[in-house]
Amino acid sequence: MGLARMALGSGTRTLGLLCRPFRFVASRHPPTAAVFVRQISMEAQSVAARLNSSGLLRTQALIGGKWRDSYDGKTIKVHNPATGEVIANVPCMGGRETDDAIASAYNAFQSWSKLTAAERSKRLRKWYDLIVAHKEELGQLITLEQGKPLKEAIGEVSYGASFIEFFAEEAKRVYGDIIPSPLADRRIFVLKQPVGVVGAITPWNFPLAMITRKVGPALACGCTVVIKPSELTPLTALAAAELSLQAGIPPGAVNVVMGHASAIGDALLASPQVRKITFTGSTAVGKKLMAGAAGTVKKVSLELGGNAPCIIFDDADLDVAIKGTLATKFRNSGQTCVCANRIIVQEGIYDKFANALSNAVQRMQVGNGFHEDVSQGPLINEAAVQKVETFLQDAKSKGAKVLLGGKRHSLGMTFYEPTVITDVKSEMLISREEVFGPIAPLLRFKTEEEAIHIANDTNAGLAAYLFTTNMQRSWRVSEALEYGIVGINEGLISTEVAPFGGVKQSGLGREGSKYGMDEYLEIKYVCLGNLSGN
Ligand code: NAP
Repeated sequence: MGLARMALGSGTRTLGLLCRPFRFVASRHPPTAAVFVRQISMEAQSVAARLNSSGLLRTQALIGGKWRDSYDGKTIKVHNPATGEVIANVPCMGGRETDDAIASAYNAFQSWSKLTAAERSKRLRKWYDLIVAHKEELGQLITLEQGKPLKEAIGEVSYGASFIEFFAEEAKRVYGDIIPSPLADRRIFVLKQPVGVVGAITPWNFPLAMITRKVGPALACGCTVVIKPSELTPLTALAAAELSLQAGIPPGAVNVVMGHASAIGDALLASPQVRKITFTGSTAVGKKLMAGAAGTVKKVSLELGGNAPCIIFDDADLDVAIKGTLATKFRNSGQTCVCANRIIVQEGIYDKFANALSNAVQRMQVGNGFHEDVSQGPLINEAAVQKVETFLQDAKSKGAKVLLGGKRHSLGMTFYEPTVITDVKSEMLISREEVFGPIAPLLRFKTEEEAIHIANDTNAGLAAYLFTTNMQRSWRVSEALEYGIVGINEGLISTEVAPFGGVKQSGLGREGSKYGMDEYLEIKYVCLGNLSGN
């Protein structure tokens, strides 16, 4: 199918007709908005051509190993957030297609779950190898539909692939137990078995990694999956699914549907064959899914929104604190669940830190994610920019001061200036909810106790950061923080080998690490009696 469904000529702006590779010429002067849009369009064509030739440009859903349109023929447009141009049309599906995907997953489960762990492991390893082999193309696809800088996008591919590799290995280590029996003629065994069909619903900010972090352990345990990627970034999910087929993961084990989110979600929730819902996304949708899963008593794991505090103590190493804060705040232009949302700075270092952070932020280049020097791409859509504007307006109206940035970028579209604001207070909207954009809000504190109180004063509990050179303090504060993840003197904490997840309203369960397997396993107790009998 490939390029046939690329939106050439349909939509507001199109990819045009040129299909030759395009290279950006570095310039000290930023391009004007019009030139910029033209450059991206040409880049999009070049990416599309490469993806098409490697078979990774899939624009249909995957059900039972077959590439399918929606049953009523309706489609949704996928946009490049940097230009607004339509890059592809994908099927707009609903309950009927989802039911068929569930049936396919259920059929595939009967055989996939019975393969040896070694065999499942081999196929997952092959999938990992293929993702790594196509790292560049997948990275380009992520930049095209999500907007993050190419280097970061390729980093996401490596990160995403690492879950497949890790869980390919873990597949072989699903051990049970033999428990000493209290009765002499009995034996007690504990088996771990796959839960069954899994519904995996994922967001747009990590179009690959949020899928592999779920599908890797699910397949490793012997489960099969129906994936619903965000309608904003389905192309990366489809490319990954294509590679899973090439890796020998059987038809039906991995299905991908997209379109009407609530209709797809409802079908997954209603089906008694779906035994597990795993979701990454907003807390509001997570709560709905958790309530909906009650009807059929499914296992649920939720990776929801955060409101990460980043505490800078007077005794912090300033360079380490700036580097770490930049990494946690501005990754993906502030659009990650573990992005620092409140930078809480002790009064003795506050002004020095604010100035040093502003200087560093000022050097970050905003623009086309395909340009080598760019570290800040566009926000995902207009609603995201409006949210940032609303939060900033609220903060300003309550006394916050803009030290740097504070408005839309001159490039237009959904580009926003990396921003630093000071005099932020806990009651401001920006301290209460995720801003999900490139604004660094600085709050001030006096004592360690106060910092902990501010940090914990939220319903969220995903990631927290602290910067200090005092070892005792680092332990004390880490233990007092009500968060699932704590980074000490480090802003980048995600890795496949460590358990990722939140407490309070940031979620349930863990992804990655050996704990990530537990989410897809049921425990069965087997009692063998009458041992001395015939
Ligand atoms: P979202 O609006 O909750 O969407 C997430 C996914 O849920 C999308 O696929 C969406 O589909 C789907 N969805 C929406 N309504 C649904 C419904 N009623 N039933 C079933 N599915 C439904 O979140 P987002 O804006 O994409 O992602 C940003 C959020 O994700 C932030 O809050 C961020 O903190 C969180 N996040 C958390 C983690 C973590 O590990 N804790 C990681 C990354 C992101 P459509 O997009 O097609 O509408």
